[in-house]
Amino acid sequence: MPLALTLARPPPSPASSKLSLAGLNRLELGAALRALDIPERDIRMRVAQLWHWIYFRGARDFHAMLNISKPLRSRLSEAFTLALPELVAEQVSSDGTRKWLLRFRPVDAHDKGAEIECVYIPESDRGTLCVSSQVGCTLNCSFCHTGTQRLARNLTAPEIIAQLLVARQRLGDFPGLDKPVAGLVPSGEGVRAVSNIVFMGMGEPLYNLDNVMAAVETMADGDGLSLSKRRITVSTSGVAPQIERLGAECGPMLAISLHAVRDDLRNKLVPLNKKYPIGELLAACRDYPGVSNARRITFEYVMLKGVNDTPAEARQLVRLLKGIPAKINLIPFNPWPGAPYECSDWETMERFSEIVFNAGYASPVRTPRGRDILAACGQLKSETERLRAGAKMATERSCLLK
Ligand code: SAH
Ligand code: SF4
Repeated sequence: MPLALTLARPPPSPASSKLSLAGLNRLELGAALRALDIPERDIRMRVAQLWHWIYFRGARDFHAMLNISKPLRSRLSEAFTLALPELVAEQVSSDGTRKWLLRFRPVDAHDKGAEIECVYIPESDRGTLCVSSQVGCTLNCSFCHTGTQRLARNLTAPEIIAQLLVARQRLGDFPGLDKPVAGLVPSGEGVRAVSNIVFMGMGEPLYNLDNVMAAVETMADGDGLSLSKRRITVSTSGVAPQIERLGAECGPMLAISLHAVRDDLRNKLVPLNKKYPIGELLAACRDYPGVSNARRITFEYVMLKGVNDTPAEARQLVRLLKGIPAKINLIPFNPWPGAPYECSDWETMERFSEIVFNAGYASPVRTPRGRDILAACGQLKSETERLRAGAKMATERSCLLK
C-alpha cells in the first residue's frame, strides 16, 4: 500500500526569503562570505568549514557549526539560511521506492514556486536517486508523461544539488542522523543510502548543461557529498552536439534514450531525432571522451507493445551498437493515464532480451519499481495537481451550496 505523507501549504512569499547557502559551490560560498565582510585571509578556511558542515554533515542550522565562532554563526544566520526546497508530497511504495514532490522558492512575484519530483530506488547493494534537471520538458517524447507538461524553466545547480540533500536528510544518510524506520535501504560496509545518481527525472539535462555539470562537480566533491562520477549517470534523449562537452568538461557516465532503431519510428517517439538522427547520435557516442569497456554507455530502450518490440528490431539494435562499448537497458513502459501506448507482453520482452543477451549484452528487463506510486517521471506532479484541482472543485461546490 503506498503511503502519501504530506500535501503542501501555500507557496512562501519571495520577499521573506534570504539566500540559502545549501547547494552553492566554493566560489559562491566565498562571495556570500565576502558580502559579510569576512577578511580575505579567512575566506578559504571559512568556505572549507561551511562545505564540510553543509555537504559532509548535512547541517540544517548555522548554530550546529561548532568550529565557527558564535558571533559569526549569528551573523551567518541573520544573513542566510540553509533552507532546502519544501517537501510537498512523499510517497513510499511497497517495494521501498520513494517519490518526493519538491517545491522551490519562488524566484519573483509571478513565480508560484516551481515543483519537480525525484525518485529514490533502493536495492540490496545500492540506492539510486533519480533527479530532475528542468521543470517539465520541451521535448514532447510521445511515451513520456513529463513531455505533456509545459516547461517552466531550467533548474539552477543549487536546486539540482538540493534534491540530493533532501534525499540524504529523509533517508538519514548524513552522519549523526537516524535511518528512516520504514522502507528498504541498502546495507553493507560503507554503502550509503544514496550511492548513485541518475539524471532521469524531469527534463533534458543537455538543454541545461552548465547547471547539470556544475551540480555533478559538487556531488562528486570528495570533501563533501563524495559520489564518484562513475556513479553519476546523465541521460539524454539525444542532444548530439552537447555530448562531447559533457564528456570533456565533466565526465559522468552517459545514457542515451534510444527507444527505436529506425529514424522514421524514432522521429515519432523522440521528436528531437528529426534534428539529430540516429547516425549522428551514435557518432557522438563513439567519440564520447573517456568511453571504454570499463566505462560503457547505457542505451535505454522502452518496450512499447507492437511499436518497437520485434525480434528484427532487437537484431538491428545489436547491429547499430557494434563497436560502441555499450550496456542495454530494456525498460518496461510505465503507463500513465491517457498514454497512447501499452507495455510489451512479458514473452515479447523476454524474446527481445534473449537476442540482445546472445549478442553479448547483459540485458535484464528492468523490474518496474514503484508502480503503485506512479513512479514514471512527471506522474507525481500531475497526480498532486489533480488532487489539488479536486480539492478546489470540492471547495467551490461547497461554496455554491451555501
Ligand atoms: N530527458 C532525458 C532524461 C529524463 S527521461 C532522456 O530522455 O533521456 C529518463 C528516461 O525515462 C528516458 O530513457 C525516458 O525515455 C524514460 N521514460 C520516460 N517516460 C517513460 C515511461 N512512461 N515508461 C518508461 N520509461 C520512460
Ligand atoms: Fe523530455 Fe526525456 Fe521525457 Fe523526452 S523522455 S519528454 S526528453 S523527459
